[in-house]
Amino acid sequence: MKAELIFTGTELLLGQILNTNALYLSRELAALGIDLYRITTVGDNRLRIRDAIVEAARNSDVVIINGGLGPTEDDQTREALVEACGVREVIHQPTLDKINDYVRVRNRTPLQSNEKVAKVPEGAQVFVNSSGSAPGSVLEKEGTAYVLTPGPPHELMSIFEEHLRDWLKRRFQLNEVIRSKVFKVVGIGESSAEERIRDLINSPNPTVAPTVKRGEIHFRVTAKAPSDVQAADLIAGMERRFMDELGDFTYGSDQDNLEGVIGALLREKGLTVSCAESCTGGLLTSALTDVPGSSDYLEFSAVTYANRWKEEFLDVPQEILFKRGAVSREAVKCMAEGIRKKTGADIGLAVSGIAGPGGGTLEKPVGLVYLGLAMEEGTWSRKQMYSGGRKVIKELSARGALVLLYQGLKGVLKDDGR
Ligand code: ATP
Repeated sequence: MKAELIFTGTELLLGQILNTNALYLSRELAALGIDLYRITTVGDNRLRIRDAIVEAARNSDVVIINGGLGPTEDDQTREALVEACGVREVIHQPTLDKINDYVRVRNRTPLQSNEKVAKVPEGAQVFVNSSGSAPGSVLEKEGTAYVLTPGPPHELMSIFEEHLRDWLKRRFQLNEVIRSKVFKVVGIGESSAEERIRDLINSPNPTVAPTVKRGEIHFRVTAKAPSDVQAADLIAGMERRFMDELGDFTYGSDQDNLEGVIGALLREKGLTVSCAESCTGGLLTSALTDVPGSSDYLEFSAVTYANRWKEEFLDVPQEILFKRGAVSREAVKCMAEGIRKKTGADIGLAVSGIAGPGGGTLEKPVGLVYLGLAMEEGTWSRKQMYSGGRKVIKELSARGALVLLYQGLKGVLKDDGR
């Protein structure tokens, strides 16, 4: 069974409000096991809304239309639907009575526009709106169900919770649920990761879909099953196969984030860390301190931007800065060792790179970044080439340093880069 969503409102097209109703309805439909075929957004224009409805009905069993049920001239959604379906509008008397009572209690004069709000398509089943005036409704015509829902988010939610969810379950005998779990992977490229799980990516149920986010790859495993328990079993089965291939690179799932997982590891091992940042300008420390309670393990951070401070504060030998440059494997190792020694932390973490847009050379182009990690077991460095604007390079460099720290804590760093 397929569904389409149509959102009406010129303010959505102008970017004046965020379409949170789309987020809400998509999630709710997914939880019911309904395949969402398409989402369309249309301005407050009767003809365009009508055309979108006709188009959606070609592909879908149910078309849910949101917004534009209010009293004003630009609220044209119901008018568009009755035109698309060739039915009349009728007054829903209980709604009109409710509005009139509301007006009377406040000693106001009933307005013509109140009648507009109380109208529904003839033959539609009405969903009374307990949080506002305009009712929801569902009209079934030639094999398609058209659902009208009000735009204000709290009104949409109460119509969905009180009526629509149960109506959809009953009408379409929905007995499938969709559940998903996201696995978060670092330290491996997207193509190499996909290569390892090629079979899993071709699986029809559960499906496995990758997205790349801020230097990480997120694999969403989605299962469809008759019950929650069966969906959870399907996901657990896929998780075992996924971990066999990518377990070494998977730091967490769902709400986990890398800085949080690192914080937990540091706390568990009773270790502290200090950072020496250059091109990231404090971003690395900012990410570490996003975790509540990070003062348990974060000792100290220095943004040693000028070479003078790399030399004076971190004890990077002048010769290295002169011969190799501040953006070099040697310099970043000395930075990591220097901050570790200076602050007495168990771990020193360092970043130095060229964020651009200027400052690049043929030998050291914009995006070249070195990361350094010094700990009891030894010192490692890593060379990275990032692309993007200055902000992106800074962000990716900070994420790269976190990945190096995570791998150091997990003990998966190899001898190369020492
Ligand atoms: P009203 O009686 O308030 O006019 P309506 O059903 O006509 O209700 P709209 O006029 O389309 O709904 O929207 C009313 C308000 O609800 C908007 O100004 C906006 O604040 C909010 N809204 C509408 N659509 C959405 C949406 N898709 N996502 C988030 N908010 C929305």
